[in-house]
Amino acid sequence: MKNYDAIVVGSGCGMLIVDEALSHDLKVALVDKGPLGGTCPNLGCIPSKMLIYPADRIVEIEEDRKLGIEAKLTRVDFQSIMERMRKSMRKNQSHIREAISQLKNLDFYKGKGHFVGEYTISVAGKEIRGEKIFLASGSRPFIPPIKGLESIGYLTNETVLGLKERPDSLVIIGGGYVGVEYGHFLAAMGTRVTILEMADRLVLAEEPEISALLKKALGRRMEIYLNTQAEEVRQNGSGVGVLVKNRKNGTQRELKAQKIMVAVGRRSNADLLKVENTGVETDKRGFIKVNEYLETSKKNIFAVGDVNGQQMFTHAANREAAVAAHNALHDGKLKMDYHAIPHAVYSYPQIAAVGLTEEQASVNHDVVMGRARYFDVAKGEAMMEKEGFAKAIVARDSRKILGFHIIGPYAPILIQEVVNAMQSGGHLNEINEGIHIHPALPELIQLALSNLEES
Ligand SMILES: Cc1cc2nc3c(=O)[nH]c(=O)nc-3n(C[C@H](O)[C@H](O)[C@H](O)COP(=O)(O)OP(=O)(O)OC[C@H]3O[C@@H](n4cnc5c(N)ncnc54)[C@H](O)[C@@H]3O)c2cc1C
Repeated sequence: MKNYDAIVVGSGCGMLIVDEALSHDLKVALVDKGPLGGTCPNLGCIPSKMLIYPADRIVEIEEDRKLGIEAKLTRVDFQSIMERMRKSMRKNQSHIREAISQLKNLDFYKGKGHFVGEYTISVAGKEIRGEKIFLASGSRPFIPPIKGLESIGYLTNETVLGLKERPDSLVIIGGGYVGVEYGHFLAAMGTRVTILEMADRLVLAEEPEISALLKKALGRRMEIYLNTQAEEVRQNGSGVGVLVKNRKNGTQRELKAQKIMVAVGRRSNADLLKVENTGVETDKRGFIKVNEYLETSKKNIFAVGDVNGQQMFTHAANREAAVAAHNALHDGKLKMDYHAIPHAVYSYPQIAAVGLTEEQASVNHDVVMGRARYFDVAKGEAMMEKEGFAKAIVARDSRKILGFHIIGPYAPILIQEVVNAMQSGGHLNEINEGIHIHPALPELIQLALSNLEES
């Protein structure tokens, strides 16, 4: 058995920990079953956004009509859009492989690791032991137990990347961010898309009024069924039939499509690690339990990123990795602070948010809300953006920003000043006292904060 100062399982955010540990001259083992680099560059953020960018351009061309521009879209080369993405993935892969092979003091174990004892992991037929262990093994698609699904076959966020031909029609089971992002992409490519969502609105983590506008906007380009559960999947000619039931009135119907995509959420990869063999506890959904220092229930074992299920975004995972590495390798502990971690949904329209929703904020705070439409600021009017809006949630007494939500063009860019303000104290003057360019979209943020509905 080989002993290490640190073992890191997972080469996504785990790579940050590897770098930090190596910079302390530690002997480090990295375990990963592949693809190297983890979900974000191979199966998640990067490939999806490479696909979505051309989709945005297509919808923009279609929407230019409102500005008096009539452009004709003559051809969309699905294969080259997919291949550009795959080429970039292959390039990333070889960069990471190359970088890892050059790191001194690092042994890379390619394979699926699992605990066989305290602080001991078996991987690729070998056993390795670590003084400190960092579990950064991520998550994978959750596949619901729908009758017929396994035998018919389905796409996920992983297999959709291998498509060579554009499907003529697709039923997406799940109206969360993966479902709406891929729905947007494929609808723009020309696929007839249907999204099924069990709940009464899309993107449940967002504000209800954002879900409502998203449904209205996407509903112009695809079919969306809310309160609808897929009960069975079966062959239908050369395609598939999805038997669905309306959860409110019990009516059933069959939807036909060439393919199905499952996007109902993620599950932790903690089970693959058999963490129970080392005494690391998981919660009832299978995510690894951590405290505010990202320590697990077992001393010197840390869990970061999707595997702990706290906030399942790359930038959150990376921050957690930095905090855990600090706590393991330095004196003095840092707490993981989630209060200003933003996120974005690259649907069309785009969504971005930071902090609490109105419902969450109202539990412990007396809150006031402020709203502004893109059209209320000069640049938004110039863009003829009549639907998008921002919503601010502010503590009545302290005037601190508790949450901020945007739906509309460039939302993921616009949210950043709110993130920075929240991180530096969060008083709304952090934003209001900064002079904003006129006319430019960030005036939307200022306006939402100056429109607080005091009652
Ligand atoms: C379609 C999609 C789009 C997304 N878009 C965005 C986005 O735009 N922005 C954003 O911030 N986030 C996005 N995310 C989420 C983001 O990808 C994840 O939050 C992030 O990649 C998690 O990083 P991680 O390091 O925790 O895990 P991962 O990056 O998944 O790394 C875990 C690694 O561990 C390996 N592994 C797992 N189990 C074992 C084992 N037992 N032994 C050995 N190796 C193992 C895996 O193979 C993997 O390489 C998206 C996710 C999806 C699915």
